[in-house]
Amino acid sequence: MSLVDLLIRQARQQPECAAVFRGTALHATYGQWVARSAGLAQVMRQAGLEPGDRVLLFMHNHPRYLEVLWAAWWAGLVVVPVNAKLHSREVEWIIDDAQARWAFVTRDVAPEPLAGLAWQIDIESAEADALLAPVPDAWAVPVTPRELVDLAWLFYTSGTTGRPKGVMLTHRNLITMGLTYFVDVDPVASTDTIVYAAPMSHGAGLYAIPHVMAGARHVVPASGGVDPAELFALGRSIGPLSTFAAPTIVKRLVDYAQDNNLSPEQCARSFKTIVYGGAPMYLADIQHALRVMGPRFVQIYGQGETPMVATALARQHLADTTHPRYLEHLASVGVAQTPVQVRVTNEHGQDVALGEVGEVLVKGDSVMAGYWHNPQASALAIRDGWLFTGDVGCLDRDGFLTLKDRSKDLIISGGSNIYPREVEEALLTLSGVAEAAVVGAPDPEWGEVVVAFVVLEMDATVGQTELDQHCLAQIARFKRPKHYHFVDSLPKNNYGKVLKTALREAACLALTIHPA
Ligand code: AMP
Repeated sequence: MSLVDLLIRQARQQPECAAVFRGTALHATYGQWVARSAGLAQVMRQAGLEPGDRVLLFMHNHPRYLEVLWAAWWAGLVVVPVNAKLHSREVEWIIDDAQARWAFVTRDVAPEPLAGLAWQIDIESAEADALLAPVPDAWAVPVTPRELVDLAWLFYTSGTTGRPKGVMLTHRNLITMGLTYFVDVDPVASTDTIVYAAPMSHGAGLYAIPHVMAGARHVVPASGGVDPAELFALGRSIGPLSTFAAPTIVKRLVDYAQDNNLSPEQCARSFKTIVYGGAPMYLADIQHALRVMGPRFVQIYGQGETPMVATALARQHLADTTHPRYLEHLASVGVAQTPVQVRVTNEHGQDVALGEVGEVLVKGDSVMAGYWHNPQASALAIRDGWLFTGDVGCLDRDGFLTLKDRSKDLIISGGSNIYPREVEEALLTLSGVAEAAVVGAPDPEWGEVVVAFVVLEMDATVGQTELDQHCLAQIARFKRPKHYHFVDSLPKNNYGKVLKTALREAACLALTIHPA
């Protein structure tokens, strides 16, 4: 059993059914998809690729992404989807680390040949048209048998710090993730549509798996990215969309709906479900999003090492406004998803009491097999089957997990722990503040001091004194920022995560301190 069986099962049942779209234009039915993937699998095998060999995908979102993924699995290969924003040197580092032999690219992302490959294919070229030509009888192309424990996806961590590590995801990990989606995130019908707005090399691409399981429709927007006007229109014309959106993308969708005076009912015509996660969603932001767009949100918390699967804040949790602890639940990342256990432990690996803060641990079939060629890092990350996530949080008596921060983002000032998120939450409740990010900077007296970077809404005139007074009214005195920087935007990676390392450097520079 492997991921390829999921597509075969759907293509046998509903070969004529529309499967993949580019914008509103049909790109492939399930039958055509399987015929193209089988054809490419055959070519790759004939060219000498062996089961377990790595194939890199370095391209912008494209309908052929899906065909290449399933072709690789058909031939028993391992896919290595890479962030399209990486520098060619960073990609060449990954090619070398993964020992990838083939790469599928788009010309805009990889205009020059990348070092270390046996073959680089431009997915939009005539060569790719030939490679992906449908075979007349897909069922005559043998599937290379794979076991659930075999590797399917080598996922290089986003690498906001240090060298990225290759997270080894098996067929079992990804099938577990797919099945869990229906139980903990969202039931999917074959008439549903998933839209790939966020990069397919990351979490968004994983949504292909439950949506192939359900025989649903897959849409790559014509722009290949996030354009709220395009997405709202797309939903209206082909049916309500489901999508994964990092909190920054959610904000853009909500702003669009508000600026265009769309009611929640009108939003429902464009969107069935917006799954958010990948970075903190602040309480004020999700409350606003629910008010503007209505009950179409679900939150997931996971990481590359347990993709999409750790906890989920389901639609019913978000709607349970009469619960006495509703606001706490809304600010949390939800409850453990069905196939995993979640614990919070102290530095000795012992469970802490409910409400106490510690490191979040996850155990279950979604947890990676380890880091590629890195037994040391693997042994540190997974102990007794428990994944040490590096996230800090606490569990409440209802089983809801609230994340404080990444352990490395914790600020220790004058011996007291300060979780940047708490300060960010406080800053964001001041009207006129659009975005806020808080980091620690070295300080000779306090060890570290809190530094805030603030993006103001257009025409807002909030000053430092107002921010300081607002913080004093909301959080303990020692937690309030000692320095404020007003910026036009926050540095973010391709997936919408704020680059705290860059902010720490900027904070040090502003204070003319050299980072540790
Ligand atoms: P990545 O491996 O790049 O997907 O990053 C995973 C990290 O993003 C997690 O370890 C968390 O620190 C953060 N993250 C993921 N989901 C959430 C969420 N729902 N809320 C807050 N942080 C999140």
